[in-house]
Amino acid sequence: MSENIPAKAETPEITRTLKCTSCGAPIKYVEGENLISCFYCGTTNMLAGFDRIVKVENHRIIPNEYTKSQIEQICRDWMTKGFFKAADLDEQAVFDTTEGFFLPFWVTTIEARTFWAGLNKRERWVGSARSRRVDRYYVPVNGEFTQTLNWAIYARQDTERYFGLEALNPGSHSVEADWGGFVLNFGLGEQTSTQTDFRKGSQPFTLELAKSLPILNGQVIRENAETHSRNRVIEYHRSLAQRKCARVTDVDTTTYVKETQLIYVPLWFITYRYKDKRYQMLVNGCSGEVEKGQAPVGKYDKAVVVSVVTAILAVLFTVLATKLDPQFFYGTGASVAIAALYWIYSAAKRD
Ligand SMILES: [Zn+2]
Repeated sequence: MSENIPAKAETPEITRTLKCTSCGAPIKYVEGENLISCFYCGTTNMLAGFDRIVKVENHRIIPNEYTKSQIEQICRDWMTKGFFKAADLDEQAVFDTTEGFFLPFWVTTIEARTFWAGLNKRERWVGSARSRRVDRYYVPVNGEFTQTLNWAIYARQDTERYFGLEALNPGSHSVEADWGGFVLNFGLGEQTSTQTDFRKGSQPFTLELAKSLPILNGQVIRENAETHSRNRVIEYHRSLAQRKCARVTDVDTTTYVKETQLIYVPLWFITYRYKDKRYQMLVNGCSGEVEKGQAPVGKYDKAVVVSVVTAILAVLFTVLATKLDPQFFYGTGASVAIAALYWIYSAAKRD
């Protein structure tokens, strides 16, 4: 969890120059960049293949509304909210780095329609009197659903360098709980991301709006981003279709790209320390929302989980004991209780 610290070392950069398609000014860029903003007129130029430079028409920016200290306050507030976070997290956390950038995203508006077919399990009683039994059988089911999604594709290849960008699209983790090797966690404390709508709050790109944070040029051209987002939407719809019935046999998604915009998004990357472990967070510089965060789980949360599990087992063993062999089950129940107490003790000690 604490390994994904942004890497500072990079391969040597080769600088090149191109002529802005709008104002003709010479603009310096790093080889590999294909979306190059002009700092004289605010145009973004796209290198779409050998010698083909085009102006990006649908070019927007989301203004950054926060300062570094306000972003850190947002992080501290987040630390106090929700379940399964260490109780003293907001007091004990020490910020290591808090950095904001305008990162480029291709936001593609895609209409996706999915037809699915599958099987659902049913049960019925067959036979009569003594030969009566449950018969399990399958019935065919099918359906369709349509969604309009604004899918964001990060327009750079250094995805590893920035924490949590996947959480800007739906279906990945937006909260990662660090249970520190505690196995009875049942995935508690984790949360799944929802859609971040970049189109809301975006404005036509101006140099004035881009002043507040460093801006990074893009590397991925529009055509590639559209193909990529189509594939991701198809994957996402496949995962939604899997939940529609017991066994999905067929999924067919058609996608239609309605619009694609290049949007510069203000994002803040935070690393903090808590008891010598490092955690990361990603905060949206326009909405002030925590898009993704990692947090250690408190020792009390672990104790509560163990207590609940112990209580369930105790009830189970009591029921079994009264119905079956009391001595055996009370004996086993006592062993389970002792084991559970040891767990609480060791979990508390680990913190
Ligand atoms: Zn220009």
